[in-house]
Amino acid sequence: MKAAARTKTPRKHAFKKASNNSLKDPVGVYCRVRPVGVSNQECCIEVISSTTVQVHSPDGYRIARNGEYKEVQYSFKEVFSTSISQKHVFDVVAKPLVEDLIRGKNGLLFTYGVTGSGKTHTMTGSPGEGGLLPRCLDMIFNSIAPFQAKRYVFKLDDKNGVEVQCEVDALLERQKREALPVPKTLGKRQVDPEIADMINVQDNCRLEDVDEDSVYSVFVSYIEIYNNYIYDLLDESPLDPTKPKFPQSKILREDQNHNMYVAGCTEVEVKSTEEAFEVFWRGQKKRRIAHTQLNRESSRSHSVFLIKLAQAPLNADGDNVLQEKELISLSQLSLVDLAGSERTNRTKAEGNRLREAGNINQSLMTLRTCIEALRENQTYGTNKMVPYRDSKLTHLFKNYFDGEGKVRMIVCVNPKAEDYDESLQVMRFAEITQEVEVARPADKPLCGLTPGRRFKNEAFREELSRQLEIRGGPVDGDRGPLVRELLLQNFPPVPSCELLDINDDQTLPRLIEVLEKRHHIRQNLSEEFAKNVLCVKNMLQELDASIVSKENFAQVKIAEREKIITGQKTEIERLEKKARTLEYKIDILEKTTAIYEEEKRNLQQELESKSQKLQRQVSDKRRLEARLQGMVTETTMKWEKECERRVAAKQLEMQNKLWVKDEKLKQLKAIVTEPKSNKPERPSREKDREKALQRSLSPPPVPNAPPVRLRHRRSRSAGERWVDHKPPSNIQTETVMQPQVPHAIMVTSANEKALAKCDKYMLTHQELASDGEIETKLIKGDVFKTRGGGQAVQFTEIETLKQESPTGRKRRSSPSSPRPPEEASESEWTDVETRCSVAVEMKAGSHLGPGYQHHAQPKRRKP
Ligand code: ADP
Ligand code: MG
Repeated sequence: MKAAARTKTPRKHAFKKASNNSLKDPVGVYCRVRPVGVSNQECCIEVISSTTVQVHSPDGYRIARNGEYKEVQYSFKEVFSTSISQKHVFDVVAKPLVEDLIRGKNGLLFTYGVTGSGKTHTMTGSPGEGGLLPRCLDMIFNSIAPFQAKRYVFKLDDKNGVEVQCEVDALLERQKREALPVPKTLGKRQVDPEIADMINVQDNCRLEDVDEDSVYSVFVSYIEIYNNYIYDLLDESPLDPTKPKFPQSKILREDQNHNMYVAGCTEVEVKSTEEAFEVFWRGQKKRRIAHTQLNRESSRSHSVFLIKLAQAPLNADGDNVLQEKELISLSQLSLVDLAGSERTNRTKAEGNRLREAGNINQSLMTLRTCIEALRENQTYGTNKMVPYRDSKLTHLFKNYFDGEGKVRMIVCVNPKAEDYDESLQVMRFAEITQEVEVARPADKPLCGLTPGRRFKNEAFREELSRQLEIRGGPVDGDRGPLVRELLLQNFPPVPSCELLDINDDQTLPRLIEVLEKRHHIRQNLSEEFAKNVLCVKNMLQELDASIVSKENFAQVKIAEREKIITGQKTEIERLEKKARTLEYKIDILEKTTAIYEEEKRNLQQELESKSQKLQRQVSDKRRLEARLQGMVTETTMKWEKECERRVAAKQLEMQNKLWVKDEKLKQLKAIVTEPKSNKPERPSREKDREKALQRSLSPPPVPNAPPVRLRHRRSRSAGERWVDHKPPSNIQTETVMQPQVPHAIMVTSANEKALAKCDKYMLTHQELASDGEIETKLIKGDVFKTRGGGQAVQFTEIETLKQESPTGRKRRSSPSSPRPPEEASESEWTDVETRCSVAVEMKAGSHLGPGYQHHAQPKRRKP
């Protein structure tokens, strides 16, 4: 609730209360089922547990609705079945509200239901069965009886506040008021037997922990809300039925704590349950009379009985009420007996009554609307306006819902079948009401004075009167004037001393006798007075002595206490010192911790960076391993192929040899089979042939044999012809000395056709030297024709061209550097051979070493 943030109850409490507005309690809703009037009557409500009732559609209803049967259960905080006593209802529902009232908190209790459901029976009671109202009064007076203030010490003002006046002023006011015709309530007379029957509660229910150091006063007022008008039922003015607007209706006002009150309403201070209930009964009678005289429908009015409890703390001596206004509190318990909740047509109201009835329904309707709006706001967090002002009833209790307090409702139901429809409405309203929450009132702060001062004061008084009694003095100070009066009565009256007759000899002797008697009495009195004075003096002296001794005792005690206090102070100082030392140590430790933590952080960072580095290295290593693996595989494959090739070449060579042998064998065979006539020439021809054969079939040169001079050299005079092999991957260097061969056949890859036409071969090979510069090697060789019909190159010399930059190794990082270092290092051992090897033994019989012969074109590895 949005307004719950305000501080309020109990009114007139100027202490800023600790706001405990976050604590909210739902409206406590109870259900009371009254017994049925006639036995065997059809019922539509059953109590099925101590918290649940079941409502079911009665026969008539079912017949009217084609046999439709409904059964609904409603749960409450507690359900009171027909057998539950008034006392139990009071204990459960009203007792906590009375306890709150005595502790300075506000409460609201109302009964709701259709006419005849037992609202009044529950609230007021029936003869012999006192309801909640007399029980509340009884509990209040049982609890505060020993601490009640004298009448008129508390004075309610006309702004819903209360003030305190001193006892003398209160006494004066009492005398003033009692001089007026005594109101019935104040007269000491026998309690009306009817009332006695209603308030004969005899529970002796009381609150045990009442603040004894406060004084209390109870004020009651009784109003009726009828037709949306408020009437004061305790107003003493006589009724006049001829005036239609009579009695005057009252208006509502808001006090400074936002509580609503009926302006100018009679508030009667009451000192006992009997007195309070008498006041109520008077109002009740007045209400009945008004209803008869003004032709009102009594079940259509709401009656509100207000019990206000004023309380103020005693002063430090415990003998007088503290006058401070902010320490006075005023709490209120409102007991409301609502009008019947049934719809108008049910009561068969007519004419004027119908209009009134409509209004009454209107105020109950407003109550329902307010409760629904409150529930909606609280449940869905909406900010819907709650229309309290639409009716006097809701407006009067606005602050209970808007501010704080305890609200309880007893839903009364008559289980008879005729009430089914109305009872359902009542149940639905009760269900919604249970969901509304009201801020819990804050606890009353203590006044700050030592507790138990009232009893100290009383004990002192008792002791004083006991002492006086021992000394034969007046037992009670209050009895002084009484004694004096009695004594005065003992003085014989002075007879008339008028001498009318000269011979009158009786008047004077009588006078003398009386005067002597009076003198004697006076002497006696003087003696007694002197005796009393002496006695009092002695007493005072004794009192003085006892006070002195007590003072001494107290001083000794004080000295002892002071000693203890000094000891404790030293202890405190020591502990404080210790605490300081410890704080200092803590400080140092905290600083050390901070340093260590910083160090730890640094180390952690270092560790992290190192581990990252390590990881990087590990991954680098893995990459390298993978690459090496690749290279190994590649090399293995290369060598395997090489081996295969060599095996094939060897086989070919062996076949050749075989072929030569075969040829020789053939020739030998021919020689052998030649005719005899040719025989004389034979030796020289045969030698020649053999020589030629030997020459032609001489085995190819052994790979490791020293280079032999060319047997099939082309004529030098014709000039040497060069194959200039420049691989396309070569880079154009800007060297002045460019390798230039005239009339050379330029090739980008070695091919047999070109080789066949030339006798010199030159490969221009580039590689990265160790200093990062490009080194150009011109690898030269001679071209041979092999026996197999192929071409072979025998390398003869390497010419190295190297360009050096004065800036040295910087070139490596220059953008013109064509290859990354990895690639360069890779080419160092692959490219020279592979490129050279292309030159080019395709057939068996090559005399070049294995490192120089390859079948395949150089494979470029992808980076
Ligand atoms: P209401 O005030 O709701 O119109 P009443 O309190 O006047 O109803 O009750 C109507 C009648 O029913 C009264 O005679 C009353 O004594 C009786 N009654 C109501 N509730 C109970 C109950 N719990 N036990 C016994 N009698 C009851
Ligand atoms: Mg009633």
